[in-house]
Amino acid sequence: MRSKDVRTKFLNFFKEKGHHIVPSAPMVIKNDPTLMFTNAGMNQFKEFFLGNTVPKNKRVSDTQKCLRVSGKHNDLEEVGKDTYHHTMFEMLGNWSFGDYFKKEAIAWAWELLTDVLKIDKDCLYVSVFEGSNDADNLEMDREAFGLWKAIVPEDRIIMGNKKDNFWEMGEQGPCGPCSEIHVDIRPEEEKAKVSGASLVNQDHPEVVEIWNLVFMQYNRKANGSLEPLPAKHVDTGMGFERLCMVLQGVRSNYDTDVFTPIIREIETITNTKYGISEENDIAIRVIADHIRAVAFSIADGQLPSNTGAGYVIRRILRRAIRYGFTFLNTKEPFMYRLVKVLTESMGSAFPELKEQLQLIENVVKEEEHSFLKTLEQGLVLLDSVISNTNGKTVDGRKAFELYDTYGFPIDLTALILSEKGYRLDEKGFDMAMQEQKNRSKSASEISKEDWVVLSNDAEQEFVGYDMLKANVNLVKYRKVISKKDGEQYQMVFNMTPFYPEGGGQVGDKGYLEEANGNVVYIIDTKKENNEIIHFSKELPKNTAASFKAVVDKKQRARTEANHTATHLLHQALREVLGTHVEQKGSAVHSKYLRFDFSHFSKLTVDELRDVENFVNARIEGQLPLQEQRSIPIEEATKQGAMALFGEKYGDTVRTVRFGQSIELCGGTHVKNTSDIWHFKIRSEGAVAAGIRRIEAITSDAVKDFYFESNRMLFEIKDALNNTQDPVKSVVALQEENTKLKKEIESLLKDKAKNLKGDLLNELSEINGVRFLAKKVDLDAAAIKDLSFEMGQNQDNLFLLFGTEQNGKALLSCYISKDLVASKNLNAGTIVRELGKFVQGGGGGQPFFATAGGKNPNGIDEALEKAQAYIN
Ligand code: ATP
Ligand code: MG
Repeated sequence: MRSKDVRTKFLNFFKEKGHHIVPSAPMVIKNDPTLMFTNAGMNQFKEFFLGNTVPKNKRVSDTQKCLRVSGKHNDLEEVGKDTYHHTMFEMLGNWSFGDYFKKEAIAWAWELLTDVLKIDKDCLYVSVFEGSNDADNLEMDREAFGLWKAIVPEDRIIMGNKKDNFWEMGEQGPCGPCSEIHVDIRPEEEKAKVSGASLVNQDHPEVVEIWNLVFMQYNRKANGSLEPLPAKHVDTGMGFERLCMVLQGVRSNYDTDVFTPIIREIETITNTKYGISEENDIAIRVIADHIRAVAFSIADGQLPSNTGAGYVIRRILRRAIRYGFTFLNTKEPFMYRLVKVLTESMGSAFPELKEQLQLIENVVKEEEHSFLKTLEQGLVLLDSVISNTNGKTVDGRKAFELYDTYGFPIDLTALILSEKGYRLDEKGFDMAMQEQKNRSKSASEISKEDWVVLSNDAEQEFVGYDMLKANVNLVKYRKVISKKDGEQYQMVFNMTPFYPEGGGQVGDKGYLEEANGNVVYIIDTKKENNEIIHFSKELPKNTAASFKAVVDKKQRARTEANHTATHLLHQALREVLGTHVEQKGSAVHSKYLRFDFSHFSKLTVDELRDVENFVNARIEGQLPLQEQRSIPIEEATKQGAMALFGEKYGDTVRTVRFGQSIELCGGTHVKNTSDIWHFKIRSEGAVAAGIRRIEAITSDAVKDFYFESNRMLFEIKDALNNTQDPVKSVVALQEENTKLKKEIESLLKDKAKNLKGDLLNELSEINGVRFLAKKVDLDAAAIKDLSFEMGQNQDNLFLLFGTEQNGKALLSCYISKDLVASKNLNAGTIVRELGKFVQGGGGGQPFFATAGGKNPNGIDEALEKAQAYIN
């Protein structure tokens, strides 16, 4: 069965069981402080389990793009070495939000695998939670056991411990026992020797978990205790690639049609066959896997970068490049050439790949290019580390420096060292690494107390589109302590005018006013699991009272001007440059706005002016805000609003329109474009291959900008004796300057010519050598010219010049070539020795050498000592 059909079969099965099929959420998560990447199908439904939002559909199914490379789930080091863990993989899942529970979940999983997909029952094992004797003191999951016993022979039911069979979302939150389904794909003769049951959960490559059915029935509190959830849920996840492996009768995920086209392409590019040497095979698997993770991330709008999620992506890409570099001898960018094959096989299920093929190729190629350069530089640096090493062990801290500052991978360092007969001091490296980890960990460590719930008020309402003030009540609050921010309180209200950070726009600031006039400042607002969280350094005295919540009006107004200008800028760029322009990121602050977009070349001055004019024309046009708060997404797209890749949209969306500009947007905006006052681009540049960035300002910031520019102009005019035309004056000054420079040059030449004549007259004849040691007032280059000119047609010449330049001493020695030979003299040795008098050193060739020193007072002594060399 082809992988495409596997996906469809799964989704159709659950559709028939009354499930609503939803699209995969983006793999790169924006605006969730607790998670960088989607690592399980349930992530996008977290808020339903937590009870913050009521789901529209109680039964849902999908295939979710997952990435397990950081945090709680990190499989990166396994990938490539084994045949069934990936960085990016698809997780097929079905969910019940307070609807069906264990009975249906178990029966349907079995029906799908054995009836529909026809997997041999004798290959399957299931596991059940055995209970725990620890502080939780949990009972065995008898219900699941009973249900399984009705359909599977008892010797195929395995009791599992807490590590394998009790699933927790994180330190806190919903959790519960789970039942896993494992498959044994070993050949019959192997099965006869060792029973599959004994290999379950033992990291055997051919006895692997394919599906996990989680039964959420508890909530883990901050103090570690469990409480029953009000509603019970089902959350399942099945590895798509592993299922394909089983259904296609192969023994490795990489032998399924999900991977073979990519592997064929790697074989062709690198001229290396898969399946011959284990070392090369690992490299090929790493590359085949990582290109997927990287391509999907870029498609989701996450470019490789130096921080956060971007850095994780950069590291994954670099890991693959390095495997290629070390084992497959790839010294040129090559991974970008795999994007096309990947797109051919996955583009129909994930159209974002198809639409951004070109961009993904460009970005990957550029990254490869610069990392290969780093590798080359690293090799040079490593050579110098080695040559400065006494003995055969290379300092681990030095290796860490290479790794940390230049991104030079440690395993490559170790490999090269061992090839050259050196050893890496691994302890030193580990220690340096640990120290750095401790530093960054303690800076970000956060401890969260349990929420103190004051009322079970319904969903909190955001009223900030219409109001900047509202009377609110606290629904819940908690204390959070981190090294970085110290002690903070997080508060949730029944309603709020505060806009939570999102869609590029910063969160609102402001204050809460108590009835007695007391004020508590709100320093930031963010969204977490669909709740609007207000951050503050303190708590109101009486948490049960009502407060006036007031948004900082000025900051909000400036931010809104920038947000609306961002929309107009987007429209302008598509108008001026073409419709290939797509938004790739934005940041809307109160002081400025930033907009990243796809385009291949630097904007010309004319294009920038056209863009500015376009936006300003719409500001002058006084276009009113027209918003639709809640319309079906299909309707919005029909009206011309464009969905962004990597953003998650609900079934209904909000649209924001100013004239012809229409966008899907949850942000806050000016009521009329005239409120923006004026739009000014401050900079344009590249962020990555094919991605440009514009930074711009509006409203008050433009006023400040013009005021500043004007002030500078006045100062310039003032400095130019109040000229009416400063440009003309500056040009005149520059011309005069050029003329003066030329004059000085020719004067200096004359001076040198005269000097040459004078000095030739000063030569004294000692032991047949024409000798001069003298202090002159010339710079190094002029002295060199002078020496060589004096040396023309002169044999037997020995010159030593000393000069003082900027408080430093310079000695330069010229010896004609015949003397070098006949008297065995060496200018290099001489300046080195005489250099001691000026506290310095130097060198050069036998016939010309220079020495610099920090003590000009020693010049005379050095000159005096020169004669000794020819005596
Ligand atoms: P394993 O023990 O094999 O690492 P897991 O316990 O981490 O699996 P779950 O978190 O329960 O897996 O995820 C549900 C399913 O997703 C698994 O049954 C498996 O089929 C699949 N899966 C998990 N991790 C990966 C991965 N790194 N690559 C491919 N598939 C995976
Ligand atoms: Mg795992």
